[in-house]
Amino acid sequence: MAYIAGMTHHLNIIGGGMAGSEAAWQAANAGLRVTIHEMRPKVGTFAHRTGDLGEMVCSNSFRSDDHEQNAVGLLHWEMRAADGLIMQTAQKHRLPAGGALAVDRDPFAASVTAALKAHPNIDVVYDEITDLPRDGQWIIATGPLTSGALAEAIRTETGADSLAFFDAIAPIVYADTVNMDVAWRQSRYDKGETEDERTAYLNCPMTKDQYEAFIDALLAAEKTEFKDGETAAYFDGCLPIEVMAERGRETLRFGPMKPVGLTNAHDPETKAYAVVQLRRDNALGTLYNIVGFQTKMKYGAQKTVFAMISGLETAEFARLGGIHRNTFINSPVLLDHQMRLKSRPNIRFAGQITGVEGYVESAAMGLLAARLAVAQAHGIDLPPVPNTTAMGALVHHITGGADAKTFQPMNVNFGLFPPLEASGIKGGRRGRKDRYKAYTDRAKADWTAWLAQTETVPA
Ligand SMILES: Cc1cc2nc3c(=O)[nH]c(=O)nc-3n(C[C@H](O)[C@H](O)[C@H](O)COP(=O)(O)OP(=O)(O)OC[C@H]3O[C@@H](n4cnc5c(N)ncnc54)[C@H](O)[C@@H]3O)c2cc1C
Repeated sequence: MAYIAGMTHHLNIIGGGMAGSEAAWQAANAGLRVTIHEMRPKVGTFAHRTGDLGEMVCSNSFRSDDHEQNAVGLLHWEMRAADGLIMQTAQKHRLPAGGALAVDRDPFAASVTAALKAHPNIDVVYDEITDLPRDGQWIIATGPLTSGALAEAIRTETGADSLAFFDAIAPIVYADTVNMDVAWRQSRYDKGETEDERTAYLNCPMTKDQYEAFIDALLAAEKTEFKDGETAAYFDGCLPIEVMAERGRETLRFGPMKPVGLTNAHDPETKAYAVVQLRRDNALGTLYNIVGFQTKMKYGAQKTVFAMISGLETAEFARLGGIHRNTFINSPVLLDHQMRLKSRPNIRFAGQITGVEGYVESAAMGLLAARLAVAQAHGIDLPPVPNTTAMGALVHHITGGADAKTFQPMNVNFGLFPPLEASGIKGGRRGRKDRYKAYTDRAKADWTAWLAQTETVPA
């Protein structure tokens, strides 16, 4: 494979999926020459069916389109404000789906492909890239099913621990929906140098009866099947909780639900039979993951089963658990705030491979990576995207806000946004509607202002 050598105003993009297609559109509209390198249809993946750019591999939904009350709807809004190809095309092929943005997938991908191929600044080369490019400006947007050779090259560059082939996602809960009249803060054996460390976990106690009922529900819950190759994740020490429960009713009590080293602050005399622990998931402290609770239970079943945990009866989830085939890098360690690989700053990463999750989030990171590349090509130093926007909240999370040690792919959600300053809006459920509206109003103003700065870049 011959690379196109490093001209300043030429951008190469590997992968013509959600992120790569959006990135190409943004950069080409800003006057850069763009080459998309897409391996399909020559080399396929287990999920793609066609050689089209922007193919949706599974569901045909871009999720909620509510830009006032929903973080993904807000991301739609921000992408539309930035003339995003994926959102424009989705609108053109929209299907009735209530508040969701669902599309007719084949015409959608055909339109994305046609728009990119018709663009005077874009070339599409159908070829697999198998190595990390040394010269020129590149965006790697090869997604969760990055081909083996390129994944290996990334692994060689970044180190074995920095590239994952599976995500084993424990459910993530909004901290302010945990009932702290039941749960308490404590690290096992009060370990830690500082008060923050000694109280790093939220603990939810269970009696014997509660534990037994929980195991019964877990065993009976509906699960999704593993696809070919996915069970390899089992050997990486990330067994789904229901598989642990199948191995013995006590397994979880000796694993992630062990009650040792913990004293219930609300009832110190009573020893819990089992304890579910939640660990802080972001720097803001707004999100907590349920430790060791990766699962293949269906989403509906997860909500029912997790509501049986005392303290989580009315908890709300920023994302539910799962285990999937998914190639992604440890972005909080590897990428700078410009989405560049620190060890090779001529390469940006975008899309699901950066550790965001979902069509919309992936396309959004393509949009942003391209805008940053355009600014760089013109020698313009853009200020960071405000973390009060959906786009900014996501990129801040993956490039630093998330805990690198437990980094797992993330959907956009309001837990990633900095809390509102002294707004007078009620906390908890009661103020939620007003709070979300205030978040989205703030985001729209801040995104519009940031975008205006990128649009001063000369074409
Ligand atoms: C089985 C499965 C089901 C999913 N279901 C959903 C869902 O229902 N909803 C949702 O929102 N998200 C879903 N996702 C996540 C989804 O993949 C992402 O949301 C989105 O497609 C990621 O966009 P991307 O641009 O990062 O990657 P992709 O859209 O996958 O695009 C990456 C592109 O890179 C190409 N490529 C890979 N390696 C190379 C190489 N070496 N050289 C050249 N080209 C290469 C691929 O052919 C592909 O076209 C699913 C993922 C998987 C694996």
